[in-house]
Amino acid sequence: MEYVATLAFAKEKDQQDPLNKFREQFYFPQHNGKDAIYLCGNSLGLQSRNVKAAIDQELADWQAYAVEGYWAAKNPWLYYQQYCSKPLTSILGASQQELTVMNTLTVNLHLMMVSFYRPTSQRFKVLMEAGAFPSDQYAIETQVKFHGFDPEVAIIEVSPRPGEHLIRLEDILEIINKESDSLALVLFGGINYYTGQFFDIPAITAAAHRAGAYAGFDLAHVAGNIPVALHNWGVDFAVWCSYKYLNGGPGAVGGAFVHEKHAGNCGLFRLGGWWGNEESARFKMEKGFVPKQEAEGWQHSTAQVFNMVSLKASLELFEAAGIGALRSKSNDMTNYLVFLLQQLNGINFEIITPKNCNERGAQLSLLFLDNGKEIHQQMKNAGIIVDWREPGVIRVSPAPLYNSYQDVFHFYEIISNIASNA
Ligand SMILES: *Cc1c(COP(=O)(O)O)cnc(C)c1O
Repeated sequence: MEYVATLAFAKEKDQQDPLNKFREQFYFPQHNGKDAIYLCGNSLGLQSRNVKAAIDQELADWQAYAVEGYWAAKNPWLYYQQYCSKPLTSILGASQQELTVMNTLTVNLHLMMVSFYRPTSQRFKVLMEAGAFPSDQYAIETQVKFHGFDPEVAIIEVSPRPGEHLIRLEDILEIINKESDSLALVLFGGINYYTGQFFDIPAITAAAHRAGAYAGFDLAHVAGNIPVALHNWGVDFAVWCSYKYLNGGPGAVGGAFVHEKHAGNCGLFRLGGWWGNEESARFKMEKGFVPKQEAEGWQHSTAQVFNMVSLKASLELFEAAGIGALRSKSNDMTNYLVFLLQQLNGINFEIITPKNCNERGAQLSLLFLDNGKEIHQQMKNAGIIVDWREPGVIRVSPAPLYNSYQDVFHFYEIISNIASNA
């Protein structure tokens, strides 16, 4: 595709874009009376216009029906998580039985590790990426300690080679092989939050299995960004949050995937709660936890309706747009962003995200060696919303559901101005 660094070109791209109509379904933060250039869907997705009516519906049904709402509400609350897990099947490549929507990401990570990190004195190590998101680091560190192991010994981190920013697949596979006698779990981010690198989930999963370990993934930056095929890739478990690319709103309920091959395995220990129990016995109030033989068997509590309703509304738009179409547009938009950034002079940064779009999602990470924070402030003053991550990265993520090629162009235009005034 030949790109051109002009507003006219960006406008034409928007006109040709079949997904462009979704933009008007969203609220944009305002800057000087105009829509801000919002390229921060990696951190918090925008609010779609259908959210308010969806929340009002639940408020009205609570008002009208009270407890009867579990059955009588327009959307009965009893299985509310399934309104979200159904549309997630195509986004995550899993059957509905393999998915559940509950809690928040870090909580789900702990719950999954209860089942999939069962260390023995022989096999107790966890392999993860160096520089993983802090919450993942803390979860793994404390799980390892909980089982009485020393994190210094039990956690192996794969790092980029000296002078490089990205982790090479061959290095990940080599360490998995080398540690195959002691490895209990390979737990990777799907996309590293800092570099934007998308890891080869099927290759890592296959290697983990060859080593006799489980493979789990944190899909915080993947869900709603890159379609994945968790079932076919044989991934053991995955977790994600819903407020980034999925636009579920602040604190929206996260989710978990458990592969079909495990869901029916009652020998796999899990922490129980009544909402994970076999439904036929749930209200019998009897002794003895009998988990549902599917991902919902990892649930604990009644569906958190008000933490799910905005996600339910947002997922309706994903279904209407289609994750495949979203990914195609996303690739093209991020490629356009790369092209535009390459035209810039007088500003000193490096794109550390992989060049190959099969190894990244929407996000580009711009690494500034000196004045990145200052430039981030200047962008903010000019109406751009992107985020800054210590020590030196500005993350820029055009979200295909609501961003336009013109947003990407205006972003470039503003940085060009910053650069020429520097
Ligand atoms: C955003 C993010 C989280 C956030 O976890 P919460 O429990 O939802 O606060 C965790 N891990 C990664 C990799 C993330 O990107």
